[in-house]
Amino acid sequence: MPTPFFDTYQTQYDRIVAWRRHLHQHPELSFFETKTAAFITDKLREFGLTDIRTNVGGHGIVATIRGAHSGPTIAFRADFDALPIHDEKDTSYKSTIDGVMHACGHDGHTANLLGLASTLIQHRAQLHGNVVLLFQHAEEKPPGGAKSMIEAGALDGVDYIFGAHLASDLSLGKIATRKGPTMASVDAFKIQLQGRGGHGARPHQTIDSVAVGSRLVTHLQQIVSRRVNPVEPAVITVGSFHAGHAFNIIADSATLEGTVRAMDRDVRALLEQEIRDLLKGMSYADHMDYTLDFTHGYPVLVNAEAETAIVAELAAQTFISVERQIAVGADDFAYFLEQRPGSYFFVGSHNDDAKTRYPHHHPRFDFDERALLNMGEMFLALVGHYLTK
Ligand SMILES: [Zn+2]
Ligand SMILES: [Zn+2]
Repeated sequence: MPTPFFDTYQTQYDRIVAWRRHLHQHPELSFFETKTAAFITDKLREFGLTDIRTNVGGHGIVATIRGAHSGPTIAFRADFDALPIHDEKDTSYKSTIDGVMHACGHDGHTANLLGLASTLIQHRAQLHGNVVLLFQHAEEKPPGGAKSMIEAGALDGVDYIFGAHLASDLSLGKIATRKGPTMASVDAFKIQLQGRGGHGARPHQTIDSVAVGSRLVTHLQQIVSRRVNPVEPAVITVGSFHAGHAFNIIADSATLEGTVRAMDRDVRALLEQEIRDLLKGMSYADHMDYTLDFTHGYPVLVNAEAETAIVAELAAQTFISVERQIAVGADDFAYFLEQRPGSYFFVGSHNDDAKTRYPHHHPRFDFDERALLNMGEMFLALVGHYLTK
């Protein structure tokens, strides 16, 4: 069965590519996407949409297309922020802003969702239910835009939520799905150890923050190896450790910073608790004062079983449907999935050309733009499943 309304979407392919390239040339950093948001809003008005909320939880935009008949409401999300990376590509549409680049594909996500908007507004008469389009700012930088958009009511009236990310590690024509935990939670910590400095030859008169900090790094590894069930993925990385100034002086303080990742909500909570307990215990044993800043980033992204099965089934009708491997990357789409059943899936975007095979966030990242057609077709297949009879 052909995907409903895909003919309409397809006739706009050149426009969709032009929008993507415009956004690519004019990237904006997370939380500063004013021109991008204005571009999206202008386009939506131009298509004839009238139910448009702007500045939702920041620069977020929520547009609703009401079907002529009653039925469920499904939401689709596209993120639209860029990254602090200098574009090193050699293309006509490379970034015009020094040090800022769409190196994750969010320009494509947004162009696709605009294509979906202009398609569906033309087919309102055939829709049994409504479509909510969530254009989200600031995915790349915690606290992200998803949480504040939800707090501002972005999901009001929404029954199901779907989103997709381009994937340069997946070839064009493949759609990857995964049930359950799919992307990691990301938390950060900063530990300040406060001991007592002194002469390098009189350690007994000091509290050595280098010695205690070094043991702390080792103990943190043992949380993962001795406290977490070995079948559960978990990461604690100390990425920076600063202490001391001279070879013969015992350092009085040390600063350690790191990242904590998990694929399970309970494991995430366990890691934080163990870090807190460890510091308490070491502080007593080592007579060391400390402060801990523990910052919660994005939660574990958990795809709903039933909705993911539907996505995989629809994908298999037109594409090569594969299972996504667990990745310790994170995405604040996780917050939407905490609120509503739905699924986040991946759309293959590389071809034989090496230019389309760079990893996301690489200064030469690019993708085969036909992947946008595939993303659009998947979204329309979901519209067909939920909103047509
Ligand atoms: Zn990214
Ligand atoms: Zn991304």
